[in-house]
Amino acid sequence: MTHNELWQAALGEIELSISRANFITWFKNTAILSLKNGKVIIGVPNGFAKEWLENKYRSYILKALQNIQGDIKEINCVIYNYDDFGLNKTKSVDALKKPSCPVSIKDISAGIINEENNLNPRYTFESFVVGENNELARAACWAVSQNLGKMYNPLFIYGGVGLGKTHLLQSIGNEILKNCPEKKVRYVTAERFASELIDSIKNQKVDLFKQSYQKIDLLIIDDVQFLSGKEKTQHEFFHVFNALYQLNKQIVISSDRPPKAIPTLEERLRSRFEGGMIADINRPDLETRIAILKTKSAEKNVDLSEETARFIAENIKSNIRELEGALNRVIAASDLEQSKITLLFVKKVLSDIISSGRRKSVHYQHIIKVVSDFYDVRVEDLTTKGRRKEVALARQIAMYLMRIELNASYPGIGEQFGGRDHTTALYAFEKINKEIEGNENLKEAIVALREKIYTL
Ligand code: ADP
Ligand code: MG
Repeated sequence: MTHNELWQAALGEIELSISRANFITWFKNTAILSLKNGKVIIGVPNGFAKEWLENKYRSYILKALQNIQGDIKEINCVIYNYDDFGLNKTKSVDALKKPSCPVSIKDISAGIINEENNLNPRYTFESFVVGENNELARAACWAVSQNLGKMYNPLFIYGGVGLGKTHLLQSIGNEILKNCPEKKVRYVTAERFASELIDSIKNQKVDLFKQSYQKIDLLIIDDVQFLSGKEKTQHEFFHVFNALYQLNKQIVISSDRPPKAIPTLEERLRSRFEGGMIADINRPDLETRIAILKTKSAEKNVDLSEETARFIAENIKSNIRELEGALNRVIAASDLEQSKITLLFVKKVLSDIISSGRRKSVHYQHIIKVVSDFYDVRVEDLTTKGRRKEVALARQIAMYLMRIELNASYPGIGEQFGGRDHTTALYAFEKINKEIEGNENLKEAIVALREKIYTL
């Protein structure tokens, strides 16, 4: 058993014994660096994680490891740089990231999407830049496009937001239609699948709904994590899935995390997903980011020098959607100001994102999103009126975090929550601030949330 296999197995156990939020927060980007004479050294990304793993989770970790390998006696954590370690291919925990940026490129290009198959012709293999972070997923998708239904079925692609899952999945569809226009391809988000299903139930047309899927040669279901907890939809999805699968039809699925990390996924669906091929997409390295910027600027007929591309790529690392967003912003500004895209110009245009570092880029919406994910409440419930108790606490915590992290004014905070009065925000801040002192759980949640705000 390799260190990595040992650690993945241990993580599997640890995951069952602590809350999901804590698991993601503290075990992301960790790895076993060495194992000698029963002593395990675990690499962790920061001092924060070291402290938590060594103090709070020591016994969990030790127990999980000992269950797999009885002779393990001791663990220690050291801080290391995950990316330098070349472990990218198996970042199963890292891939549990949730979306942080709600703006979708889909919104921009809505006009050109084909109504029958829902594919955006812009998403092709040709326009997809291959790097170390995505080569496995890309190869799997390509193989599927060349051997529909025969290679990997289902193909399951997972990775964080804005890293190219939708682009890759749709590339398969576009490639198929290029070579075999008679094939029936359908791209659908899991969310849309669910809402169409619900409509069909309402209109008593479930059979029609199922039939419409059985005619398909390639079914692409995007963001399947959305089905989490939706039992009835999962149930119907399973039937559609099985019907297609038995007819040797190809199914491709994406998710922001691996099947085993999707809570409340029906067991038989999970095992179906795991029965095929699973590939992940990670964050792109610097060279890949530069290559992507060059490709995107060339697509837009914009001349971007090596120096400026490098500058943007060095400063925007989180995901490709944001990278593209920054590029679009630069291009728009240069059009508007009739200026050439020099390094100086780019620095000026992107100054608010870049120079002031992370703090500024942590926006209100991001905090709301992180808190709503953490407490599993909907963003709308958090930001509109309503008095359910769990929601009220989550809301107060979000207000508190805005004050702490953004130094936001109370009226400014109130505005984010459906125009609540500033005294509400003030009250929330003071209440949480006071309660943290005596409430260990709350304290833990806040620490985890703050960590998540900066890492997701
Ligand atoms: P996800 O579905 O994983 O959230 P998307 O597929 O929507 O991400 O990608 C976000 C944006 O980044 C899209 O505009 C996509 O074209 C672009 N993109 C992502 N990865 C690549 C890549 N490797 N090469 C070129 N463009 C990419
Ligand atoms: Mg997507």
